[in-house]
Amino acid sequence: MTGPQKRVLSGMQPSGLMHLGNYLGALENWKTLQDTYDCYFFVADWHALSTNYADTSRIREFVRELLIDWLAAGIDPARSTIFVQSRIPEHAILHLLLAMITPVSWLERNPTYKEKQDEIKEKDLTTYGFLGYPVLQAADILLYKPDLVPVGKDQLPHLELTRELARRFNDIYKTAVFPEPKEHLTKFPKVLGTDGRKMSKSYHNTINLSDPEPVVRQKLKTMVTDPARVRRNDPGNPDVCPVYDLHKIFSPLPVIAEVDQGCRTAGIGCIDCKKLVADRIVERLAPIWTARTQLNQNPTQIEEIVQAGSRQAAEVAKATLQEVTEAMKI
Ligand code: SF4
Repeated sequence: MTGPQKRVLSGMQPSGLMHLGNYLGALENWKTLQDTYDCYFFVADWHALSTNYADTSRIREFVRELLIDWLAAGIDPARSTIFVQSRIPEHAILHLLLAMITPVSWLERNPTYKEKQDEIKEKDLTTYGFLGYPVLQAADILLYKPDLVPVGKDQLPHLELTRELARRFNDIYKTAVFPEPKEHLTKFPKVLGTDGRKMSKSYHNTINLSDPEPVVRQKLKTMVTDPARVRRNDPGNPDVCPVYDLHKIFSPLPVIAEVDQGCRTAGIGCIDCKKLVADRIVERLAPIWTARTQLNQNPTQIEEIVQAGSRQAAEVAKATLQEVTEAMKI
C-alpha cells in the first residue's frame, strides 16, 4: 500500500505570453510532477497587479492564454487542480491576516524587492502591494499546505519567508495549522532569446508558444550569432553563439556535433544552421499548436476546467482558513 500522494503547489503570473523559456523551465517540470504528486497549479493574476497595476488592459487575455498554453502543453485537469487565484477570495483574506504578523524588515531585506525596482525603472514599484507580494505568495502557498513547492534557486529566499511566516504564525497562536513546505529544486535550462540575452518578456526577445510557425522561423532567422562570422566562409565559435545553445536543447546529438564542427570550419552557414534548429523547435511545438487551436475553438471547455479546479481549490482553502481563524480566535 502506498500512502496518500504528496501535494505540490505552483503558480505563474499572467504578465505576458508564455515563451520557450517558461515552457522548458516550468511547464515541462509540472508535466512530470503530475505523474507522482497531487498537483495544484494556479494562475496568479493578483500577483500580476504588483507590477502591472497601472495597466491591467491585457491581464484577462493573458490569464486565458496561460491556461490554453498549460492545457495544450499537457497539464492534465484529470490529474491536476488548475485554478485562478482571484476566484478564491481566501487568498486575499489569508494575505491580510498574515500581513498583520509580518515584520516590515523581513520584506525590505527580500533581495528581489530592490533588484526588481532597479531593473524595472519605467514603473513605480514603491507600493505597499509590491513590498508585500511575498506575503501574498505565502498565503497562496500556505492555504493548500503543500508538501513541496517547485522553485529555482533564485526563488529560495521567497520560500524561506513563507516558512518563517508559517513558524511565526504557529508560534504566536500556539498552533500547528501550517506545516512548513519544502522546496522541490528545479534546474532550469538556460534559454537565450533572439538577441542573445536571457529569454524574457521584458527584453522583447521571446519565441512564444502562441507564435505561429512562420513567426517562429522568422524570429530564428534574425537571431544573433557569433559576431566573428561576418562572411559565410569565416569560421565561428559555437560556444559563444545563442543559436548553438538552442541546438543543445532541441537537437539530437549527431546534429549538435555536426553544427559544432561545421561552424568551426565554416562548413555550415548560419542560415542553414538556424534552419536546422528551427525544424526541431517547430517539431516540438507542433502538437502544442494543434492543441491550442482546438482549445481556442472551444472556450467553454477552458471555463469548465477552471470552474471545476477552482471549486476543488476553494474547498481546501476554506478549510485552512477556518483553522486559521479558529487559531486566531476571530
Ligand atoms: S553556424 Fe550556427 S552555431 Fe555557428 S555562428 Fe552560425 S548560427 Fe551560430
